[in-house]
Amino acid sequence: MSTIRENIAKVRARIRGAAQACGRDLQGVGLLAVSKTQAASAIREAYACGLTDFGENYLQEALAKQAELRDLPLTWHFIGPIQANKTRSIAESFAWVHSLDRLKIAERLSAQRPSGLPPLNICLQVNVSGETSKSGCSPAELPALALAISQLPGLRLRGLMAIPQPTTDAGEQHAAFARLRALRDGLELPPGTPPLDSLSMGMSEDLEAAIAEGASWVRIGSAIFGARAYAAPATQGNHP
Ligand SMILES: *Cc1c(COP(=O)(O)O)cnc(C)c1O
Repeated sequence: MSTIRENIAKVRARIRGAAQACGRDLQGVGLLAVSKTQAASAIREAYACGLTDFGENYLQEALAKQAELRDLPLTWHFIGPIQANKTRSIAESFAWVHSLDRLKIAERLSAQRPSGLPPLNICLQVNVSGETSKSGCSPAELPALALAISQLPGLRLRGLMAIPQPTTDAGEQHAAFARLRALRDGLELPPGTPPLDSLSMGMSEDLEAAIAEGASWVRIGSAIFGARAYAAPATQGNHP
């Protein structure tokens, strides 16, 4: 077996174990393979193992791989920092955005979403770790921002996303993910708004805690593809 195939088998076993441990249906936990810095050939290999959803952080890199992999029916998720001058390409080339945290960007994505495509699925990024992270809206800003985004015609608000401060303390991991779930559950949107069915949370090191707290997407990079060639910042910064 190839390394990627073995790694995917291990990640799936971890997801299965975590879902069983808390009595969740495995169907409710999506595996988003984070392929930033990885070659198109690695994505092709992961697809051959049954993965269809891939997350990318850097637009130019993602577009190049999308072009190379055009023959595969993949679903692309944008999970990196969004600059205003990149919104048109993101709106045209992705099915999901997990890293939205500003209304100005949301309005651009909505206006630029091609009319022939379904609305862009959005997980609104929330900063659940306080001062330590600069990405994500604050919990205080969340209700108004979620309401505004839920009204934009080119977007479909699906739920929330977080990248908590990394910690090996399982209690702290659970607490951060539980905070995101509580924020999602506490949002009140106008009648008729589609339900917020998504929580994008959990990475290679903490997917068990995230699943226990209700993750609908775990975003897994290094546990599938191995260590990245450089340490890409998960929360901010722009790749040259
Ligand atoms: C890189 C990245 C991941 C994956 O991180 P791993 O620790 O390699 O699993 C998940 N989410 C975001 C937003 C990332 O940037």
